Amino acid sequence: MRYEALFTLKGRFYGGESGPARANGCECAGEIFPVIVIHGGTSGLDLTKEEFKIREEPMKKALLAGQAVLEKGGSAMDAVTAAIMVLEDDPNFNAGKGAVFTADGFNELDASIMDGSTKKAGAFAMARHIKNPILGARLVMDKTWHTLVAGEGADKLAKENGLEMVDQKYFFTQFRYDALQKAKEKQKLLLDSEKAKKTSLNLHERPYLGTVGAIALDQNGNLAAATSTGGMTNKMTGRIGDSPIIGSGTYADNDSVAVSCTGTGDIYMRVNAAHEVSALYKYKTQDVQKAAEDAIAQVKALGGSGGIISIDKNGHTGFAWTKDKLGMYHGEARLGAKPIVYWPLGEK
Ligand code: ASP
Repeated sequence: MRYEALFTLKGRFYGGESGPARANGCECAGEIFPVIVIHGGTSGLDLTKEEFKIREEPMKKALLAGQAVLEKGGSAMDAVTAAIMVLEDDPNFNAGKGAVFTADGFNELDASIMDGSTKKAGAFAMARHIKNPILGARLVMDKTWHTLVAGEGADKLAKENGLEMVDQKYFFTQFRYDALQKAKEKQKLLLDSEKAKKTSLNLHERPYLGTVGAIALDQNGNLAAATSTGGMTNKMTGRIGDSPIIGSGTYADNDSVAVSCTGTGDIYMRVNAAHEVSALYKYKTQDVQKAAEDAIAQVKALGGSGGIISIDKNGHTGFAWTKDKLGMYHGEARLGAKPIVYWPLGEK
C-alpha cells in the first residue's frame, strides 16, 4: 500500500459513505507524496444533496487544476494558486465573483498566500476591483517588500502590475445580494425586539458558505497555503477578517504544516488559528488531525465557528470543523488518484 491510512473520520458524507481514508501520508524515509487539499467554506448541516452537487464540480475542477501542477513537478505555490483561481471565478463561492456584500453594499475581497519553504507571504485586503485576489496576494509577496496591502493601495498595485481589473458589478450575484437584505432584516429584528434578542444570529447559514482555501505539498517537500474570501455578509465596510492575516487564516512552514481556515474570522484572529495548528504540531508534537481539532476547539471556546484544513510535511492531512451545527466542504487529490470532495452529514 502506497499510503498508510492512519484513521478515517467518523460519520456520513456526501461524496463518500465514510469519508476518505484521512491522514494518508507516509513516513517512508526520503519519499514525498504530493497532495493538494481544498475547502469551500462551512455551512449548516442541513445542506441538501443539490446544494452539495452545485459546488462539487467546481471543487473537483479546482483540485484537478492543482493536481495538474503537482503532476508536472510544479510547486505547491503554483498548485494552490491554480486551485484558488478556479474557485474565485465560480459564482457559487464567496471569493472573487460571488463574494458576499458589506453592510453598505460593496464587495471587499481578502486573500493571502504563504510559501512554507521561504516563509515568505503576501496578502490583499479590502480590494474592490481585482478579478482574482489571490494573484494580488502573490504580487505583494513577489514584487514588494510588504506582506499585507489593503484598500485602494491594493487595487492600485494590481492595476499597475497589469492584473485583470473589473467593476464592482462583476462580483454581483442575486443570492448574495438577497442574503445581505436578509441579514439586515435579521439584524434589525435583533435590535428591535426583546424576544428576537434571545435567538442567536447564525453567522453560518447558507449565505455565508463559500470562502475558499487550498494547501499543497509538492515533490520537493515544499508546503504552501492560500485562502480567498469576500468575508462575511453584512460586515462593516472596511472590516478585515482572518483570511488575509498570516497566522490567522493562512500559514505554511516546511518544518511543520500548511493550513487554511474558514469561519468567524474575528475569532480566528484572536486564536491565531492557522499558526496554532503549526505550533501544536511542532511544539506539542500532536499529529496534524489532532492539532487541527485542538485549534478548532479554541475557536469554539471563544464563540466562533468554522473549519480548518491542514497537511503536514509528510503529507498527512487533517480536517476539523465545529461539528455541532456545521459542515465543511473539503476535498483532496493525491497524484494519480481521482479528486474527491466531501460534505459531512453528521454522525447518525
Ligand atoms: N473567515 C472569513 C472571514 O471572517 C469568512 C469565512 O470563512 O466564512 O472573513
